[in-house]
Amino acid sequence: MRTKITVVGAGHVGATVAQLLAYRELGDIVLVDVIEGLPQGKGLDLLESGPLEGFDCRVVGTNGYEETRDSHLVIITAGVARKPGMSREDLLKTNADIVKSVAESVAKYSPEAFVIVVSNPLDVMAYLTKRVTGFPKNRVMGMAGVLDSTRFRTFIAMELNVSVEDVQATVLGGHGDSMVPLPRYSTVSGIPISDFLSPEQIERLIERTRKGGGEIVSYLKTGSAFYAPASSVVQMAEAILKDKKRLLPCAAYLEGEYGLHDIYLGVPIKLGAGGVEEIIELKLTPEEQDALSRSAQGVKKAIDQLQL
Ligand code: NAD
Repeated sequence: MRTKITVVGAGHVGATVAQLLAYRELGDIVLVDVIEGLPQGKGLDLLESGPLEGFDCRVVGTNGYEETRDSHLVIITAGVARKPGMSREDLLKTNADIVKSVAESVAKYSPEAFVIVVSNPLDVMAYLTKRVTGFPKNRVMGMAGVLDSTRFRTFIAMELNVSVEDVQATVLGGHGDSMVPLPRYSTVSGIPISDFLSPEQIERLIERTRKGGGEIVSYLKTGSAFYAPASSVVQMAEAILKDKKRLLPCAAYLEGEYGLHDIYLGVPIKLGAGGVEEIIELKLTPEEQDALSRSAQGVKKAIDQLQL
C-alpha cells in the first residue's frame, strides 16, 4: 500500500514541508487549505517539478478532506503566523479555532493517522489536537524541539567556525522564550561545548536560540520562519515513516515524566513506526528542572485559557 501524507495548511511552512516530502519520496502528498486554488496551484506546481527532481509521488491540492482519507501521517500547519511584536501566545484563540476544526476532520477521515502539530502556540495546539481527535498519546506530537535545537546547533557552529555536521544540541521545554537549552548535553563531535566556549558565550547563544523565531519574524515582518521549521517537521516524518527510532526533542504528552502531568512539553523521545515510542527522562540538575517546570507553567496557563 502507498503511504499517504496529508499536510494541512498550504502556506509557508506547509508548502515547504510538501516540497521536502516529495523530494525525499516519503509518500503521496495531499495538501489542504481553506483558500480556494492555493493548495491546488501549489500542489500542481510541485508535481510538475517531479520530472526534474526525479520524484514520482502523487501530489494533490484540495479544499476538502475526501482526498485525505486514510492518511498515515497528517501534519497540521494551518493557522496564522506571528507578525513583529506578537508572541506565539497572541495566536492562541485564532489558531485554537482553526486547529480544532482541522483535528475534527483528521479524526473523521484518518482515524489511524499519526499527527505532527506545527501550528502555534505549539504545545497548546498539540494538547488540543490530542483532546479533539481522541488519539492515543503515541500518535500525536508537536514539532518544536528539533527546530529549537537546530537553531542552537547553527549558532554554536557559527561561533566556533566548525561544521554544523559535528554539532549536536538538546533543547527542552515549551516552544517559546521559556524553552530550556541544555548546554550540558550539547557537543561538538562528542566534546562538551563548555570545553570550547566561555559561560558568557554559551549564555549569549542560548539567548539567541530562545529568541530565534522572533529574530526571523523581525526580518520578515509579514510572517515567520519556514525553511528550518519545514526541515524539522520532515526529519520527524521520516523517523516515523522509516521507523528510524531517532532520539529527537519533540512536544509529547506527559503523564508523570519530569514530574509533569496532563501537558504537552518538549522532551527527548524515541520516534519510530509506533510514533512516540518512548519518552527519555534525563537526569536534570535542580536549575534545569526549575526552568522546565516554569516553562510548563506557561503552557498550562494557556491550556487553561482554552477551557476545554
Ligand atoms: P501561513 O500564513 O503562511 O500559512 C498558514 C496557512 O493555513 C494559510 O495558507 C491559511 O490559509 C491556512 N489555513 C487557515 N485556516 C485553515 C483551516 N481551517 N484549514 C486549512 N488551512 C487553513 O503561516 P506559516 O508560516 O505556514 O505558519 C503556519 C503555522 O505554523 C503558524 O501558526 C506558525 O506560528 C506555526 N509555526 C510553528 C513553528 C514551530 O516551531 N512549531 C515554526 C514555524 C511556524
